[in-house]
Amino acid sequence: MYQFNYLRPKSLDEAKKLYENNGDAKFLAGGQTLIPTLKQRLAQPTALIDIGGIAGLAGIKVAGGAIVIGAGTRHNDVAISADVKKSIPALAHLASHIGDPAVRHMGTLGGSIANNDPAADYPSAVLALGADIKTTSRTIKADDFFTGMFETALDEGEIVTEVSFPIPEKAAYMKFPNPASRYAMVGVFVAKTKGGVRVAVTGAASCVYRESAMEAALAKAFTPDAVANIKVSPGNLNSDLHGSAEYRAHLVTVMAKRAVAAAT
Ligand SMILES: Cc1cc2nc3c(=O)[nH]c(=O)nc-3n(C[C@H](O)[C@H](O)[C@H](O)COP(=O)(O)OP(=O)(O)OC[C@H]3O[C@@H](n4cnc5c(N)ncnc54)[C@H](O)[C@@H]3O)c2cc1C
Repeated sequence: MYQFNYLRPKSLDEAKKLYENNGDAKFLAGGQTLIPTLKQRLAQPTALIDIGGIAGLAGIKVAGGAIVIGAGTRHNDVAISADVKKSIPALAHLASHIGDPAVRHMGTLGGSIANNDPAADYPSAVLALGADIKTTSRTIKADDFFTGMFETALDEGEIVTEVSFPIPEKAAYMKFPNPASRYAMVGVFVAKTKGGVRVAVTGAASCVYRESAMEAALAKAFTPDAVANIKVSPGNLNSDLHGSAEYRAHLVTVMAKRAVAAAT
């Protein structure tokens, strides 16, 4: 690791000021991605601004037909929340399958979506449920938030404060995990709402995306058979030592079919 200053603000305002006054600073949440990155010497921030001590950044509430989850909420707290289990069981299921117990007790929702790893689980829920991402300066729609591999619409120094997930009529998440890391080789989140059906895929491509052919088919008939024969093009999918693009394309259809079956 390199040398850096460790700062622990008590409010979002203080965190923003520290960020502005500390050159190449980085916000630290659960540290499950950032600390390994520092250990591998892939980043050299001058300061780590630990936002874990900011009151009100963690918590779960039900408000206006949505589950609102603070950015600092740990994965395990989402997994065991009675409110999440009741209103969006698919989201609790997703959180309960992230990494291992250590990762789930440290990692946060805000850290996961700000990092936007192409194989992370939460981005698929955010996109499929059409969530709103609230930050220190604005509210960003899910469709505008994830902009590319490890890229988001967040500006320099902008902090995610909470995510509002509209409660769907039906939803389910199915992932085929990498057996070592538990990251998604492919994960598919399917949600049926009053506004229509949304299908978000993670792990398969460089960034989470929506499968529009599946959404159109499921809008006509929300059944596993509606997606069973949809062939996904491997053209833009990832190919690596874990699996070829063709393998991942096949998995998208299999996971989508299982997700619809689970949701119904
Ligand atoms: C062994 C292992 C297995 C894992 N398996 C999975 C898995 O199966 N599925 C999965 O989805 N993830 C997995 N993860 C990642 C895990 O979910 C992390 O929690 C997540 O990547 C980052 O969250 P964090 O709170 O630890 O963020 P940190 O590591 O603290 O920060 C990550 C990045 O986000 C920024 N950031 C953090 N919070 C905010 C905020 N509120 N606003 C703006 N920027 C912010 C930081 O500045 C940093 O750039 C795994 C990690 C490990 C180490």
